[in-house]
Amino acid sequence: MKVIVPVKRVIDYNVKVRVKSDGSGVDLANVKMAVNPFDEIAVEEAVRLKEAGIATEVVAVSCGPSVCQESLRTALALGADRAILVESDSELQPLAVAKLLKAVCDKEQPTLVICGKQAIDDDANQTGQMLAALMNRPQGTFASKLVLGDGKVQVTREVDGGLETVELMLPAVITTDLRLNEPRYATLPNIMKAKKKPLETTTPAALGVDVAPRLSHSRFAEPPKRAGGKKVADVADLVDKLRNEAKVIA
Ligand code: AMP
Repeated sequence: MKVIVPVKRVIDYNVKVRVKSDGSGVDLANVKMAVNPFDEIAVEEAVRLKEAGIATEVVAVSCGPSVCQESLRTALALGADRAILVESDSELQPLAVAKLLKAVCDKEQPTLVICGKQAIDDDANQTGQMLAALMNRPQGTFASKLVLGDGKVQVTREVDGGLETVELMLPAVITTDLRLNEPRYATLPNIMKAKKKPLETTTPAALGVDVAPRLSHSRFAEPPKRAGGKKVADVADLVDKLRNEAKVIA
């Protein structure tokens, strides 16, 4: 069973994101980048399936500029067997990424695609769902547990009211939530070994995919600074402030 894991290169989660002074985008100059945390969880899950003898091959795929090779090398160091870079310097929106991943899946025929539930840069939470729709495959989003069976996978999902378990026919698309697993750290020997693992490069044109953006951004702005808290004397004071200052109750 082959597992494909899409891996996005994003701003490291420890970095305080800054908006460019003209509001045209996020300032990426000299910013530390890393593998999207939900994708590390996806790689970990795929590698655990391989270690359990369920998966036979784990293929990491990234779409973006040539530096995305770094993210793919990280995935290889964490245990993926090979990697595919779909190289493009254009802005890739979720629909374009989903189409590129579909084209890769058409060639690779994976049994399972494990995406992150969202990329922490654009927080779109769309690519996995779009990919499942384009491939006409069942989807199990926000997975906190996977149990592989014969031709099926049981996915426990984190939903508003608690947990929901769904059973999907394979092949299927899964997206990972935070509690699915705790990813391992890449060891130095594995980082060295990853340099020798195969990394293939292709392009949107070679895959026959039009990646032109369908959405345009009008403005980026930082969220307003949080105002300091206020102490209230008693419940009556709290209700008064909620009614007359914050105006959140009638
Ligand atoms: P998003 O829909 O942008 O929040 O992304 C959800 C998931 O789709 C990510 O966690 C990745 O698994 C995958 N993904 C999004 N963009 C890319 C990309 N450029 N390359 C590879 N995978 C991606």
